[in-house]
Amino acid sequence: MAYYQSKPAAGRHFLQIPGPTNVPDRVLRAMDNPTMDHRGPDFGKLGASILAKVKQVFKTQSHVIIYPASGTGAWEAALVNTLSPGDRVLMSETGWFASLWREMAERLQLRPEFLQGDWRSGADPAAIEAYLRGDKGHEIKAVCVVHNETSTGCTSRIDEVRKAIDAAGHPALLLVDTISSLGSIDYRHDEWGVDVTVAGSQKGLMLPPGLSFNAVSAKALKASETAKLPRSFWDWKPMIAANATGFFPYTPATNMLYALDAAVDMLLEEGLDNVFHRHDRHAEATRRAVRAWGLEIQCDEPRHYSSSLTAVRVPEGNSANALRAAILEKFNMSLGNGLGQLNDRVFRIGHLGDFNDLALMGTLSGVEMGLRVAGVPHRPEGVRAAMDYLAGNA
Ligand SMILES: *Cc1c(COP(=O)(O)O)cnc(C)c1O
Repeated sequence: MAYYQSKPAAGRHFLQIPGPTNVPDRVLRAMDNPTMDHRGPDFGKLGASILAKVKQVFKTQSHVIIYPASGTGAWEAALVNTLSPGDRVLMSETGWFASLWREMAERLQLRPEFLQGDWRSGADPAAIEAYLRGDKGHEIKAVCVVHNETSTGCTSRIDEVRKAIDAAGHPALLLVDTISSLGSIDYRHDEWGVDVTVAGSQKGLMLPPGLSFNAVSAKALKASETAKLPRSFWDWKPMIAANATGFFPYTPATNMLYALDAAVDMLLEEGLDNVFHRHDRHAEATRRAVRAWGLEIQCDEPRHYSSSLTAVRVPEGNSANALRAAILEKFNMSLGNGLGQLNDRVFRIGHLGDFNDLALMGTLSGVEMGLRVAGVPHRPEGVRAAMDYLAGNA
């Protein structure tokens, strides 16, 4: 039996967690090439080409640094390259991932200040502006926001956060986690004046887990010259120096770079605007299904609805984990679990990455059948509502 399944199952497993996402065959094929000498001349050409190409996805002209690490590593890289021990940083409590980033900041001896949230909307630009206005001495060195909060399905408006920082006349750096939005939801590193964009390979970029990224503004680079947090593996400086000729200071994840090359080609061939529109459309169809089932969407601010995933609340007295277990057992589909305070209260439908209308309909059918099997009260009308929307907007 294959190592990735515990019992015989015909057909494809539906991997509908909001990351890792389904890896397209073209990307898998690209990885299936011989690993090459990462100090040899061919590698330099490949490296230079990928480093240039990937900038288009971040919409930046500046450096994009690629680490052989999960997204958490790129979070750390963003902090240790720009900040010094004891620095105050402002963070927004959008959910579980924002909370983890804050804990990391604390462990790194920063002083994070958390703008409280109820895990049902994105960051509040007005609250950020008011907080920064109160910091007359400009002691806050960075504002950290999770663009798409994967635990709740709420997307923060980074353009509005930028405006809030500017309106307060505050010089803090803007650090943004796009791990579950890049390549799925409109994002513009340069235009929005983001200083460090943090990203990961295994969500919208359609790659297996294993790569993560920092896109770095000139202002962030400048800050890195005087930042005093200890750093070695994550240090941008030797990376940028080696990247100038397409190389890396230590062994890069060579086959993952082949994969990245193929995945970025796929995104650019489809066109980023079309990719974003496809995600918006699948998210809207999913929300219509949820409402037709009579269930509640965790994000209660329509302007913050996520196009990469939808977190769905189960009615009081029901178990989201039992529902997910039934769907896995009966229909061979994985859905995302509720994280932190949302454990057992929500399940999360990932509709990002390599995805199309029929894959979405298969996913929603699995959920609707699962609601019935698990005995969760609902109206069996969600699949129909999604079909009506998709066919009416084909
Ligand atoms: C998945 C995710 C992370 C964590 O990334 P890892 O690759 O698991 O380290 C952080 N932030 C967000 C928003 C995520 O979706």
